[in-house]
Amino acid sequence: MGNVIILGLGGVGSVTAHKAARLQNVFERITLASRRVESCDAVKKSIGRSDIETAQVDADDVSALASIIEKQKPDLVINTALPYQDLTIMEACLKTGVDYLDTANYEHPDRPGFEYKEQWAYHEKFRDKGIMALLGCGFDPGVTNIFIAHMKKHHFDEIRYVDILDANGGDHGLPFATNFNLEINLREITQEGKYYESGEWRTTAPLSVHEPFDFPGVGVREKYLLYHEEMESLVKHFPEIKRIRFWMTFGKSYLTHLEVLQNVGMTRIDPVKVDGTNVIPLKVLQAVMPNPADLGARTKGKTCIGCIVEGRSGGADKKMYVYNICDHEEAFRDVGSQAISFTTGVPAMIGAKMMLEKKWRGKGVFNVEEFNPDPFMADLTEFGLPWEEKLL
Ligand code: NDP
Repeated sequence: MGNVIILGLGGVGSVTAHKAARLQNVFERITLASRRVESCDAVKKSIGRSDIETAQVDADDVSALASIIEKQKPDLVINTALPYQDLTIMEACLKTGVDYLDTANYEHPDRPGFEYKEQWAYHEKFRDKGIMALLGCGFDPGVTNIFIAHMKKHHFDEIRYVDILDANGGDHGLPFATNFNLEINLREITQEGKYYESGEWRTTAPLSVHEPFDFPGVGVREKYLLYHEEMESLVKHFPEIKRIRFWMTFGKSYLTHLEVLQNVGMTRIDPVKVDGTNVIPLKVLQAVMPNPADLGARTKGKTCIGCIVEGRSGGADKKMYVYNICDHEEAFRDVGSQAISFTTGVPAMIGAKMMLEKKWRGKGVFNVEEFNPDPFMADLTEFGLPWEEKLL
């Protein structure tokens, strides 16, 4: 039924590829493309489907990417590379008239911070070309946005307050490591916190606002207020929201290491001269730290990601919690990756499936909450991310 390129074969891309490869009736042809062809070959070998093709490409190079797209003639490019490549991949899709999907919003490599502005600016161009881009189809962003669309469709007349809660209760036994790309992870966490209230964005010092919370399946953890991209699109698409905040858990050891690394300058993203060569400290740190994709075999415990929604229904106040619990070891048994890659790679596969099956269609650039949540929510359960909801 569909022909896709999965672009960027790290932790997330590997999960998307494993899951897609099992649905041959939907993902008829798959090409794995990445900066290093060895990354594609390793994933292809672990999947064991011999018809999968591989290609080496640097996604920063629009013409090289367009040539691969023209050769493979996909219906859709699934971007599981890094957020720095979002614009070049969108540009190559526009050039070749092919649909696009990603899991994280564009970040400028040299500037901290991220926003949808530059990707949303492609809307008219994609619309005029008759193609579709689906932005932020991982877990958060992704499933958390779809949880809100589901709440609005089935449980609330008006949504007023949203708290997005992301807990990783996993333990890899190492004093410090990140569960997805270290550079992206640390850039996200070391920024100022930001939340939306009464029509304006309010900032807080990095990791300064925190409180304990009892997460289903994980237990009590300290959660920290962070800025996260799904808040920007949710506020746009549900203007009734009066306040939205995002919270993530961190352990003591993680925060202590982070503090030391920041204090010694290792999280800096500006170049410093070492023996006459410019190096970026955060990239050096990434090179010496464990590869998140290799943590799967040693990670135990669960993640719990979900949304608490408060609002009005049938003339009364209402509060509900919708969440998924994902087990690191079960994820590893299924696809050879830990739960962070799993909870991102599975929704990317489902989003691609929604587009190929034409359950989600449109011309232009869209966020996931703009479509009918029902078929996606059903597929979450079917493909290993069952969700629960309860009244609070
Ligand atoms: P990894 O670093 O493990 O994988 C990224 C892969 O992208 C690498 O393997 C690398 O390939 C490839 N890549 C990097 N630069 C290029 C390039 N110029 N051209 C082609 N390929 C390139 O990251 P993750 O898998 O952890 O994360 C992938 C994406 O998912 C990120 O954008 C991240 O922000 C997002 N994410 C989203 C989440 C969500 O819930 N929405 C949660 C977690 C992650 P190679 O090995 O060939 O060098």
